[in-house]
Amino acid sequence: LTPNLAPDSFWIDQYQLELYDTIGQGSLGVVLKCKWFGECVAVKVLTGGIDPVVLEAEAALVAGVQHPNIVKLIGCAYNQERRAGMFVMEVVGRDLRTLIELRNMNFQNRSPPFSLLQSVEIMLQIAEALQYLKDCKLMHKDVRARKVLIRLCEAGEASAPSWEYFHVKLADVGLAKFKLEMLQASSFQTEACRWRAPEVFRDEEMIEKYSWPADVYSFAMTCYEILTGEVPFQGVPLNEVYLKLCAGERPELPAHCPPYIAKYIAKCWASNPNERPEFSEICEHLRHWKCMLLLR
Ligand code: ADP
Repeated sequence: LTPNLAPDSFWIDQYQLELYDTIGQGSLGVVLKCKWFGECVAVKVLTGGIDPVVLEAEAALVAGVQHPNIVKLIGCAYNQERRAGMFVMEVVGRDLRTLIELRNMNFQNRSPPFSLLQSVEIMLQIAEALQYLKDCKLMHKDVRARKVLIRLCEAGEASAPSWEYFHVKLADVGLAKFKLEMLQASSFQTEACRWRAPEVFRDEEMIEKYSWPADVYSFAMTCYEILTGEVPFQGVPLNEVYLKLCAGERPELPAHCPPYIAKYIAKCWASNPNERPEFSEICEHLRHWKCMLLLR
């Protein structure tokens, strides 16, 4: 797979999008299900005076990003009257956070949401997406289970969801500019803070210091979510999360997590960004663990 960042055209005529359902409300805007030339697409509507030039630049940046583990951006549209921007994407199953919460509801005894092999497989597919993004010189800046979409196998979707086969796709690639503006406007008082690396926690340092190790840190917090079903620092008020990070505190990995995995995740969320491994190395480890678990 080679990054292709020179697309021909990605503008979509908004009147060709036929609305037929609402998927969900996100922090940046509502996500709608639409038909576009008979194809089912997901449309993320960004309101609040979107600049079409910025929208075009963001879409241009990711229009060539093509990877099996990244939600495909089909194009973008603009509504002049409402100054609303639209990102048109492929529709993918459900987000990992919702799936974890459904599992938590079914298993009240707080057993881990997935088997260890399933967890490693989910982590590997996310890490492969992030490694590809790094090859494209793109950062995600908001990695967490909510941004991971999962497609379960056909048979599973039709009846009870089946985890025999699943496909992971990372969402929200290429909205970096809008994400940053939203984070800065909210003074870091949003849920996303729980996954945010200490070095980019303060507004004034965010743009300057955000680099790939910050994505590695958020990835490690996402691994914690996958292994435990809990959000990082669950129950801790948002304004106290940063204080905990400064004191070197990190969430506790569960006993069912083998020490070699726990140790590696701890390396990924190290306070010093230079001590965190690269995604290429993380993928290698995850592939190795997957083989070990398959052979067990
Ligand atoms: P947030 O910004 O709060 O994290 P999003 O705007 O990314 O949320 O998404 C809102 C909802 O829409 C979520 O439930 C998410 O799973 C769903 N969603 C987003 N993109 C897609 C997509 N391409 N296919 C299917 N569902 C999606």
